[in-house]
Amino acid sequence: QKQESFKMENSAVTVAVRIRPFNPREKAEKALQVIFTSGQDTLVQHPHSKQSFSFTYDFSFCSVDDSNPAFASQQTVYETLAKPLLLRAFEGFNTCLFAYGQTGSGKSYTMMGFEGEAGVTPRFCQDLFSKLASLENVEVKYHVEMSYFEVYNEKIHDLLVTRDEPTQRRMPLRVREHPVHGPYVADLSGWLELGNKQRATAATGMNDKSSRSHSVFTLVMTQTKTESVEGEEHDHSITSRINLVDLAGSERCNSAQTSGDRLREGASINKSLLTLGKVISALSEQMLTRKKVFIPYRESVLTWLLKESLGGNSKTAMIATLSPAGSNVEESLSTLRYAQQAR
Ligand code: ADP
Repeated sequence: QKQESFKMENSAVTVAVRIRPFNPREKAEKALQVIFTSGQDTLVQHPHSKQSFSFTYDFSFCSVDDSNPAFASQQTVYETLAKPLLLRAFEGFNTCLFAYGQTGSGKSYTMMGFEGEAGVTPRFCQDLFSKLASLENVEVKYHVEMSYFEVYNEKIHDLLVTRDEPTQRRMPLRVREHPVHGPYVADLSGWLELGNKQRATAATGMNDKSSRSHSVFTLVMTQTKTESVEGEEHDHSITSRINLVDLAGSERCNSAQTSGDRLREGASINKSLLTLGKVISALSEQMLTRKKVFIPYRESVLTWLLKESLGGNSKTAMIATLSPAGSNVEESLSTLRYAQQAR
């Protein structure tokens, strides 16, 4: 058995893997399950070479079969991976959570989900605002703004700006109290819906464009405390940025491209994903060796944009999503290697 794992101590980044259930097509084809989990390990049995691969992460979640003890619900994924970031944000840290994987492996299910199976982003917002509501009437004031944009071909597009009604970049969010369901974020679901819709259909009109762009949902939380020093009032504030990122499909990161637009697109996805990988592993190395390492933030728009939220005073997590099927084994192995390099 090929051992591709290494120790997780001191890693700057928390890395999880999540294997989705078979989709209807795979079920109809009686697809072979080639990826399994055991504790923190993810195991791959190559359907052709019969070689076995083993990888170790902070968490290996399996959602192939909900009777499996390793089955991870949306709630579990949120609690294990995202909630710790929320707590760090209140301590004043910047945080990033990335979903990485091939198209159709479960990135947007994990990050957004849908009605009844809400993903990380809506759960995060709900939790953040419930916490804020419970903290009311103390001497700290909170202000939260959101933005939602995508990076496509190394350009940034605001997903909350509509053509008929250009709005400001950052939307302030307010908490309202629902008589039955308690505190909720006014207008948030509307904004998310608008952003998701725009992501799928914007400018170029290509319907699977969302798999070729990175979407970045950002909350900026400012905590302001007024202190009285020698009779004078001083405001002291801390700002934390929380970035929830659904990355472009990783398949274009390896596959040979044809020409024209697709080539350019492939090259820029490649650049962002490779640079992100380099940045994260450089940050891990820096933390491990305690020496200053060159971090190539400027090599892609995505990493440049997230510079303040990666490294230094920040906390990063990544969830790598996978198909369990034998037909996707090569993409899955490449995803597993990428995720491993991140630690
Ligand atoms: P991606 O964003 O990576 O392209 P999606 O999130 O759209 O992939 O997932 C592809 C399909 O698989 C969707 O129909 C989604 O609902 C389903 N799916 C993905 N992950 C899971 C999961 N863990 N549990 C249940 N269904 C899932």
